[in-house]
Amino acid sequence: MPETVSIAFPVPLRRTFTYSVPGRWREGSLVGFRATAPLGGRTLYGVVVEDDPAVPEGVALREVTSVLDDAPSVDAELRESTRILAERFFAPWGELLRAALPARLPSGEGTRYEITGAGAAAVFDAPPSDRLLLEELLESGRVGAPALAELAEGGRERLRALELRGWIRPVGKPAREPKGQVVVSLLAHGDDARTAAGRSKKAAEALRFLESLGRPALSEELRAAGFSPALVRKLAEKGAVSLVSHDRRPDEAAAGPPAAPASPFTLSPEQAAALATVEGSVAAREFSPFLLFGVTGSGKTEIYLRAIAAARAAGRGAVWLVPEIALTPIFARSLRERFGDEAVVLHSAVGEANRARAWKDMKEGRARVVIGPRSAVFSPIDDIGIFIVDEEHDASYKQDESPRYEARDAAAIRAQAHRAVLLLGSATPALETWHASAEGRIRRLDLPERIERRPLPEVVVVDLRREPALPEEKGIPLFSRPLSETLAGVFERGEQAIILAPRRGYAPFLLCRACGNAFPCLNCSVSSVVHRRENALRCHYCGSRRPVPVRCDACGGKHLEAVGAGTERAAERFAALFPGVRFAVLDSDTARQRGGAAAVVSSMENGNVQALIGTQMVAKGHHFPNVTAIGVLSADTILNFPDFRAAEKTFQLIAQVAGRSGRGERKGLVLVQTFHPENPAIRAALTHDAAGFAAGELEFRKTFFYPPFAEMAEILFASTDRERASAAAHEIAEALRPEEALRVTPAAAAPLERLAGKWRFQVLVRSRSRKAILAALLRAIPETNPSGVAVSVDIDPRNLM
Ligand code: ADP
Ligand code: ZN
Repeated sequence: MPETVSIAFPVPLRRTFTYSVPGRWREGSLVGFRATAPLGGRTLYGVVVEDDPAVPEGVALREVTSVLDDAPSVDAELRESTRILAERFFAPWGELLRAALPARLPSGEGTRYEITGAGAAAVFDAPPSDRLLLEELLESGRVGAPALAELAEGGRERLRALELRGWIRPVGKPAREPKGQVVVSLLAHGDDARTAAGRSKKAAEALRFLESLGRPALSEELRAAGFSPALVRKLAEKGAVSLVSHDRRPDEAAAGPPAAPASPFTLSPEQAAALATVEGSVAAREFSPFLLFGVTGSGKTEIYLRAIAAARAAGRGAVWLVPEIALTPIFARSLRERFGDEAVVLHSAVGEANRARAWKDMKEGRARVVIGPRSAVFSPIDDIGIFIVDEEHDASYKQDESPRYEARDAAAIRAQAHRAVLLLGSATPALETWHASAEGRIRRLDLPERIERRPLPEVVVVDLRREPALPEEKGIPLFSRPLSETLAGVFERGEQAIILAPRRGYAPFLLCRACGNAFPCLNCSVSSVVHRRENALRCHYCGSRRPVPVRCDACGGKHLEAVGAGTERAAERFAALFPGVRFAVLDSDTARQRGGAAAVVSSMENGNVQALIGTQMVAKGHHFPNVTAIGVLSADTILNFPDFRAAEKTFQLIAQVAGRSGRGERKGLVLVQTFHPENPAIRAALTHDAAGFAAGELEFRKTFFYPPFAEMAEILFASTDRERASAAAHEIAEALRPEEALRVTPAAAAPLERLAGKWRFQVLVRSRSRKAILAALLRAIPETNPSGVAVSVDIDPRNLM
């Protein structure tokens, strides 16, 4: 019967706020309920974290305005785990609680909106800020104004603007134009899908495409992907898909796949040994952390699937984290095949309505297994027996905006609470994890060989210092002779290749030959990237863009040259070198389109293209058995970054992309182009020597007192006023300096000194003791800062730019 409660709000403040509770909600504890209350001039929603907190005498409390749940949304374990995580990462508890909940509020009061035909047609060309909202309507049918406004940049104002434009309308208002869109939802999975497709390759492809999307598709979208309306109608007749015109809800009663029998494989002896150990720990109900250190292609996925089965057999749930699920739809497919309706798949292409439904299914015990990215670590599953973090070294597990938490650590915290197994898998473990296993804090399980004793691919270096460049390449050849010769052979034999380009766009910068101007972004201290297809100069940091100029801003010179290479230029050169060889490009520009990444991956899977050209995304977990060659256009890009992890990241990237090669019958070859063939990270990658690399790199980290030997925090100060940002940084660096347990760098401009118009200063803090860092930060960093300088703290920073 609480008279007061404290609420954690999703705002960048670490403290909670206390309110009095009106009589009608004083029936039982409110802890874990979502509630709204006034904060500053707004009404916000947050999570109640305490009943009847201590209130200082004489403080007049404001009242809770509403309680949104009938039962707690956040149970005691998630509350405690997020609290520990907040402390561990100096992050706002309320923001972590929000990350643990679906973004969607129960849409109660007021107007509900639906999408119009014009809106449906506009979805895929709409500006990104509107697309989210339109997609949500498309998927959910009708959405309440409050929930919709949360998705809109510009809130209710934007809703009105979209209504005027004729893209959305309040429910009940007549349509302006009658023509509708058709939404295609997948009904048949696995064997059912194969039966429905029969011998039609195109039909099978369409079903796979839908499955990899993980959501219903517009008929137009299918047409754009090369599937005709006639084909779609035929699939509907066979019961493989349902067709619903857009203004009705997509069929909710879509039957899930039947739970299929277990895997077709006999485990290798190494797999069997590793699995037995994991199974033993699941049964023992003790927190047991493992590092599954298995070379690429050693069959880690099969161990994950069987370990999950072991957890299920014990009546327990499972959480499986993967870096980019849209790129590896095969994981979700096998999970669905083996666990049927008990499994839910979360990823960025899952709309808010489905996300809310999945959350409810987990909360109410219908779904017991989840696969998803970082945020899936907060899945509300009861009695979790295993947390799997696949590719545990992957940078995507760290959120690089507030709340800055690491999903690997979140999984560890929750695994302790559940007395569960924590299974971290990688061929190239993070040095933190490696070090922990060396110290015995994590138990290592090794899979030293590929499945069926397939050899690891041969990795060879191409010394760019000895390669002639074309005149326009400015001494940096894009496709060296050895690389083009290898690729020519691959394509001739009908095999596939992957080409890793260092960045997206056409060229990293535009250079004026007359005055040397490199056309920096007007808001950031970086040069703008040339995107030729859209004829734009784009800043990859703040997103600003403008047409590619014909004359230099500075001197009026006309000789402007695009320097260096990105995916677009690599593709252009590729097309010239290998006319007639079909290829696809995979980078965040292609992946941003919903389903874009899935379409590219499936075109590689089904052999529609012979080459995949892309950024780091091409290195992530794919299994294309017909890929026999990999070209790394430049191994030096990351190596040259001002970051103590540059070598580690370079090693991981080369080893991971190399791991995509030779996964089928035929042997693989990897060519790594570099100006630094003697670099230890590159040399270790040549021999797949993760252990050797770790040993050398750990020496370096120890000598220079970097993680994992030091705990580290970055304090970042950002302001439109350079002097203020600098002064604030100096002040806090001074305040921290006397702390004996800390090593504090002098305040200095961040490598990326200006970002989106803000000047940025940095203070790095290191210590043997994380506790000492956190305690010092608590003392030194004010919760609110009147100076107009935004201060943010990043514990275990992954990105020091
Ligand atoms: P990793 O994740 O370690 O890179 P995968 O899990 O992708 O490796 O396994 C590589 C391939 O080997 C996959 O096609 C997988 O289905 C297959 N595979 C796994 N275990 C076995 C096994 N015991 N026998 C035969 N094939 C297997
Ligand atoms: Zn910029």
